[in-house]
Amino acid sequence: MPKAKKSLGQNFLIDPAVTNQILQFINPDSKDIFLEIGPGKGAITKQLASRVDTTHAVEIDEELSYKLTKLEDKKNFYVHNKSILDFDPTEIFTNKVRVIGNLPYNLSTPIMFWGFKYLANFCDMHFMLQKEFGERLIAKNDNKDFGRITVITQYLTEPEYCFLISPESFSPKPKVESVFIKFNPIVGRSINDPIAIRLQEVTRIAFIHKRKMVGKSLEKIISTEKLDDLGIDRKCRPENISVEDYVKISGALI
Ligand code: SAM
Repeated sequence: MPKAKKSLGQNFLIDPAVTNQILQFINPDSKDIFLEIGPGKGAITKQLASRVDTTHAVEIDEELSYKLTKLEDKKNFYVHNKSILDFDPTEIFTNKVRVIGNLPYNLSTPIMFWGFKYLANFCDMHFMLQKEFGERLIAKNDNKDFGRITVITQYLTEPEYCFLISPESFSPKPKVESVFIKFNPIVGRSINDPIAIRLQEVTRIAFIHKRKMVGKSLEKIISTEKLDDLGIDRKCRPENISVEDYVKISGALI
């Protein structure tokens, strides 16, 4: 057995009960097209490929990719040996696909942004993530976990917390707990729309100084009077403003 590569975030799922829980949750329909990020040794992949018409798996590890090709006798199963960050789904899929991945935790943020970039091509996305990172994506305001990535994630998707997974379910055993989260894209929104572009700027400035009042942090781009007009308390800290209020601020700047 090849040694797990820590640099590639390889913690393989070994608990069939968790795989079943995942499959039960995503409830694949035979007509679904699935895209799996980081299939590894195929714990989720094997189940998926036997239940749906088409599965594409993107794995950066050459050795694991080669082993997965043995599954290719399953109809419509394809392995792409490359980084998901270099994978352009629009070159392959003409219909919307469902995305799933037990992610390499060191790449969670870039993979989330990769997902946002191609959101219009996805029916939904399901990711297994480090618990602390997942909590940032689903946080509500007035919470220490609420930050820039929370706002962008919840502008573009409705995240749905599914379940917690213990370190014992993986080999090698990670030091952290994991969560499984479903992201439902919000129709009509895109990372490139004018609000999303402003939102990234506004949240970048607001969260530079987490202890500073937003009226002060944002004064170069929006006046405190304008914030008052929008009904936003200028004395708030950045984590106290709701996603909707960040959207309101961004809308006022277009
Ligand atoms: N899905 C498998 C499972 O649940 O057992 C493996 C999950 S493991 C946490 C993460 C997987 O992502 C590894 O197989 C690793 O080689 C792969 N990986 C790491 N970086 C990647 C990248 N940039 N693109 C695609 N796959 C990557």
